[in-house]
Amino acid sequence: MKGRRQLKKEDDNKYAQITTEQCKQILQKLVQINTCQPEGNEGKLADVILEMLPENIVYKKINHSKTRASLIIKVNGETEEGGIAFVGHMDTVACGDYSQWSYPPHDAIVKGDILYGRGSADMKGGDAAMILALKWMLETKKRPKKSIYFCFTADEESKGSGICGILEDGMVNKVDEIIICEPSDEKIGTCEKGAFWLKITVQGKQSHASRPDLGINAVEYVEKLVAELKEQVETGEVHPILGTTTASVTKLCGGIMTNIIPPTAEAELDIRTVPGVSHEHILKCTEEIADRFRKEMPGIQITVEVMNDRPALETSKDSPLVKQIMKTAQMVGISTEDKGHYFYTDASQIIPEISVPFVIAGPGDDALAHCINEHISLESVRRYAKLYQKYLEKYYL
Ligand SMILES: [Zn+2]
Repeated sequence: MKGRRQLKKEDDNKYAQITTEQCKQILQKLVQINTCQPEGNEGKLADVILEMLPENIVYKKINHSKTRASLIIKVNGETEEGGIAFVGHMDTVACGDYSQWSYPPHDAIVKGDILYGRGSADMKGGDAAMILALKWMLETKKRPKKSIYFCFTADEESKGSGICGILEDGMVNKVDEIIICEPSDEKIGTCEKGAFWLKITVQGKQSHASRPDLGINAVEYVEKLVAELKEQVETGEVHPILGTTTASVTKLCGGIMTNIIPPTAEAELDIRTVPGVSHEHILKCTEEIADRFRKEMPGIQITVEVMNDRPALETSKDSPLVKQIMKTAQMVGISTEDKGHYFYTDASQIIPEISVPFVIAGPGDDALAHCINEHISLESVRRYAKLYQKYLEKYYL
């Protein structure tokens, strides 16, 4: 009897064992597949992930095109109701100037504890941690109380067609909670900024620059409109973690020659909002300013176009997910200090649709995302794989 109990304990330990060597082997395979935008080629990476797993798993590959796909792997629970989804994207941004990299971005070179390569931090490290937790889950051969979904998405770095495809498919739409496995710098993120991108186009009237009174200076109107909007937007609510909403002019064009009053001008604004700020309200403010200019200057034409609209998100610290994940984080040595994300993730497209609590918790430093010489600590990958594993063990088995 004693002997059997001893054996069972050893078995449990075996399941719980996740090593940095395993992290390295999986992550190298993921980084070595080039999934740079704009091509993506995530279909190939989805196949590589499937090859790492037993043949009898339940999965769905959602094809977006010949070469682009997203993948959902399901561990069936005792009930079809609820469950949890882990979400990681497979695409990366482009590598930029290869000559600037210390190591080729798809060689996945390891020096000590650090693995270098495009997507290592954002976010194939998170994908590797998900795969390790999934492998562990399958090895236990236990049926979880509720279903567990591992979603590997395409196109997060552009339009998010991967997560939208998963939403449309509906397989994960009834989960109770979501973990976005994006890099969170050894912390747990509970909020992310929204993004609202506007294109403002002004059509004025051309005249000789010695007679500005005969023209309508489109460049000056764009400048005025943007300055007023920026002032209104940036003086709003202050969020304890994410600070204030920011509005940056990121593109500006107009003008023909020094001695011509410019007839057209265009500005693009990247507005990053904090939770509680309504994008509809920002659009209304923009239209109000434009309307005032239209009245002041008959003949002027102003159009405002929304190019991207992703709301800011926040999960309450009192939600069971946040409380439980913080408790689990402490067990594996991850900080429970407040953390927010300044950029949007796949959460911005799935959370508004299914309204469930989410956290951003994944290996690596989010400040290295999209950088030259992007890299990640393998120990960090191991720590988050343990976080996912412990969370599932504690709350789903
Ligand atoms: Zn990312």
